[in-house]
Amino acid sequence: MTAPASTGHLGHTGPLPAHVDVLVVGAGFAGLCAAIKLAEDGRDFLVVDKGADVGGTWRDNTYPGAACDVPSQLYSFSFAPNPAWTRSFSQQPEIHAYLRSVAERSGVLDRFVFSSTVDHAEWDETAQRWAVRTSAGDLTATALISGAGGLSEPKLPDIEGIDGFAGEIFHSARWNHDADLAGKRIAVIGTGASAIQIVPELQQVAGHLDVYQRTAPWVLPRHDRSYPAVERAALRHVPGLQKAYRTAIYWGRETYVPAFTVVPDMAYPAKLLAQGNIRKGIDDPELRRKVTPDFKIGCKRILISNGYYPALAADNTELVTDGIARVTPTGIVTKDGTERPIDVLVVATGFHTTDQPIAHHIVGREGRTLAEVWAETGMSAYKGTTIAGFPNLFQIVGPNTGLGHSSMVFVIESQVAYIRDALATMERNGYAAVEPRPAAQARWNDALHRRMSRSVWSTGGCASWYLDEHGRNTTLWPRSTFNLRAVLRRFDARHYKITGPAPAVGGPGTTPTQREAVTA
Ligand SMILES: Cc1cc2nc3c(=O)[nH]c(=O)nc-3n(C[C@H](O)[C@H](O)[C@H](O)COP(=O)(O)OP(=O)(O)OC[C@H]3O[C@@H](n4cnc5c(N)ncnc54)[C@H](O)[C@@H]3O)c2cc1C
Repeated sequence: MTAPASTGHLGHTGPLPAHVDVLVVGAGFAGLCAAIKLAEDGRDFLVVDKGADVGGTWRDNTYPGAACDVPSQLYSFSFAPNPAWTRSFSQQPEIHAYLRSVAERSGVLDRFVFSSTVDHAEWDETAQRWAVRTSAGDLTATALISGAGGLSEPKLPDIEGIDGFAGEIFHSARWNHDADLAGKRIAVIGTGASAIQIVPELQQVAGHLDVYQRTAPWVLPRHDRSYPAVERAALRHVPGLQKAYRTAIYWGRETYVPAFTVVPDMAYPAKLLAQGNIRKGIDDPELRRKVTPDFKIGCKRILISNGYYPALAADNTELVTDGIARVTPTGIVTKDGTERPIDVLVVATGFHTTDQPIAHHIVGREGRTLAEVWAETGMSAYKGTTIAGFPNLFQIVGPNTGLGHSSMVFVIESQVAYIRDALATMERNGYAAVEPRPAAQARWNDALHRRMSRSVWSTGGCASWYLDEHGRNTTLWPRSTFNLRAVLRRFDARHYKITGPAPAVGGPGTTPTQREAVTA
């Protein structure tokens, strides 16, 4: 289990400029995609990321076994195909290397400010721009693009005594590669997407492994395979072959959409497959019972693994389903009073999803943070990208843009296309600011949540990280991805409040004229 290699490339050096046209937060798939497309459009921009490298998710999640669960042919940029993928579901080092290589080849890295946080961004109504405070200095920006990630900030469990644990403790997304795990008593809290990748790896090195499960996930077989050299050569040299793979995977995955969103019972064959996966991996009837979910398949994220059930069935593993009462300095006590001693505690409890941390740092036109606004309304946006009261703010992977079945890169590229068109529209027409009309945003969300009410995420009988504390699904997109792409194809200015023209950059702020384009 080696630590990731160091970056070896430079970002932006020197002091920040006083103003940029576009400031991008985050250097993951989203921020990098935005940067490459903004550079293509000849825009003046900077990207700020708190990490020391590009990659986001794929820079931070270095845990053993980390890999994508959407085939790499689709889980990659359409404009940067990679014929060198070594297997169908790539592992973290390969995905991270891909993102680095795309960043280097696109020549945008000198616009990336690494190891710096965006601490505060406040809309200045007079100057019609964002006043931004970063740990690398202050600057203003005409437009702010947040690519701060939907699964970026680790969520730690609120368990009595956890802070007093005396052994090694770390979150799956902040793996401690210096921790010696060989032969140790290890506990993993959580049985979500990260945990089921970690558990088979830890089972092989641990002396003893306890896996603490609150809810059993549905786990399908993982149809992963390495590409033989001849297939890789074909992908590189046969015109159109890689595109054909990508297209086939894309449409194959879109066929799952009705089962998630309209008729959950259509997923019955998937349930049979998952039950077969349990029978194949586990002989013990009691353990089979414990790992069999009691909710409809698809309600929580469907996971894929061939190694998870055999790892749970191994002699050195115990699946613990009694709730955790507290953590002591040397172990975990369950509600039945049993204490299991451990040396290492791995917390695989996911991320802040419905309470995005970046929302606390963005202050809109009325002086309220996005987090304060969302605390009242729930996380919501117009087309998952723009938000009433927050002019010239564009969020990539914003509310209700997540997917349970396909590649987030497809969503990211769709949103970036919309943002580019918005910026071009603003420039062409001399608009200083655009923000969605509240009525348009409300209509968008009403329709979305009407549609959501039939989905398996709402009706499948589970609690999941897709839902906020009111049980509202504010994370997932409830239709096909081609539908999302279609609605994001063009910037629809008629649903926006338009302010213009822009005061001259660097000049004294003039009071903007409010030009209401069309009453929504
Ligand atoms: C383990 C794991 C596996 C996944 N597998 C898949 C998969 O197979 N298929 C799929 O479609 N999706 C998958 N996802 C979802 C994945 O997060 C998205 O596909 C995609 O990587 C999101 O990219 P992003 O750029 O939006 O966010 P991120 O990759 O999370 O990047 C956000 C960046 O913003 C930075 N940032 C945040 N706040 C600030 C701030 N205030 N100041 C400065 N920088 C900031 C962070 O440091 C980070 O680099 C997976 C997620 C995880 C965690």
